[in-house]
Amino acid sequence: MEQYDILIVGAGMVGAASACALAQKGFSVAIVEAQTPQPFAPEQPRDLRVSAISAASEQLLSQLGAWSAIDAMRTAPYQTLATWEWQRSEVRFEASEIGCDHLGHIIENRVVQLGLWQAMAELDGITLLTGQGPDRIWQDEAGAYLQVGERRLQGRLLMGCDGARSRVRAATGIGLTGWQYRHHCLAVNITTEAPQQTITWQEFTPSGPRAFLPLAGHHGSLVWYDSPEKVAQLMRLEDGELKRAIQQAFPERLGAFEIDGRGSFPLTRQHAQHYFDGRLVLLGDAAHTINPLAGQGVNLGFKDVATLAQVLVEAKDSGQSWDSEAVLMRYQTPRRRDNLLMQSTMDLFYTLFSNDRLPLKLARNLGLMAAQNAGPVKNQVMRYAMGL
Ligand SMILES: Cc1cc2nc3c(=O)[nH]c(=O)nc-3n(C[C@H](O)[C@H](O)[C@H](O)COP(=O)(O)OP(=O)(O)OC[C@H]3O[C@@H](n4cnc5c(N)ncnc54)[C@H](O)[C@@H]3O)c2cc1C
Repeated sequence: MEQYDILIVGAGMVGAASACALAQKGFSVAIVEAQTPQPFAPEQPRDLRVSAISAASEQLLSQLGAWSAIDAMRTAPYQTLATWEWQRSEVRFEASEIGCDHLGHIIENRVVQLGLWQAMAELDGITLLTGQGPDRIWQDEAGAYLQVGERRLQGRLLMGCDGARSRVRAATGIGLTGWQYRHHCLAVNITTEAPQQTITWQEFTPSGPRAFLPLAGHHGSLVWYDSPEKVAQLMRLEDGELKRAIQQAFPERLGAFEIDGRGSFPLTRQHAQHYFDGRLVLLGDAAHTINPLAGQGVNLGFKDVATLAQVLVEAKDSGQSWDSEAVLMRYQTPRRRDNLLMQSTMDLFYTLFSNDRLPLKLARNLGLMAAQNAGPVKNQVMRYAMGL
């Protein structure tokens, strides 16, 4: 039996960040990942899976030693976030209004993951097992265990960072609340005539939002939320037909573009009823998924990482038993509350804007206009979205 302080299943963005945060503080970590990400090469087309990485997540990635590698691959900082339903009700959030250089970066998920893998390789105390998931996951009073092929690993805690369909969560029996939203989303990567942009925008329409996210170079990612039937129909179109459909459905400010690639995703809200069971702890999408409307999913996962690492380190430094229920409660209580608040806020927006009744339309557009002129309140909202 190989002995470690902590075992992690899943070395995606959240799992790899957890391994770095804990190894930096002297914990020995074994991390198991089923898929190895393709190494980065600048000539590769942009991946479809991209995320808006908030300023707070950027700070965490810097502390973990991953940011410089991520930034050296490809990132697209944005200074402005605009959202509207009627053109006259546009709300613009500008980084300069709160004295910042940028609000966040749009980055391919694989680039973030690769930066973290590079940081993991530079740290002592991390054993990475790739190519297969665990055959068995179990726990008893003495520890938590993984069987991976011929290897048996023991840790004092086992962290499930294995995404929305977490096997670790299934091994705990922790229940889930949640539902499928009535929208799916179509993500389309494009090459734009305009050079690299520093604005991300979202237009609300009764059939769902339409969003533009800038990518490095003359590139962007379009997100089209619509009914599952409509998204399936769009997926079947030839590139030329899809381009025409986008030109009709998206606002003119999109400008000239060519299609590079597309993919579709169902939208699900999930929340684990607890974040730990004995020695098994859940983080990131294994614990919660959220409507991607405001690009918060992995940013919440990174906050889980920062909080859990902090409570474990505080307990260890003060001589407490860091794998105890009391310590894990100090992770679960604030993180579950914060994640629930963000999920509910997103759902409020989603419901409010997915309705074509005129009085509601008027009210929400007046609300947006008021938000544009809300001064300090608007700045608070901006700071919250940036995770500050
Ligand atoms: C359309 C869409 C747009 C989004 N946009 C944004 C955005 O703009 N900003 C944002 O913050 N978030 C966004 N999100 C959410 C974000 O993608 C997720 O929150 C994030 O990927 C979660 O990271 P994770 O590491 O928890 O899980 P995952 O990314 O799912 O990673 C899980 C890892 O575990 C591995 N794994 C799974 N099972 C096993 C196993 N049994 N054994 C070993 N390894 C295993 C997987 O291979 C993977 O590497 C978006 C989501 C969607 C669907």
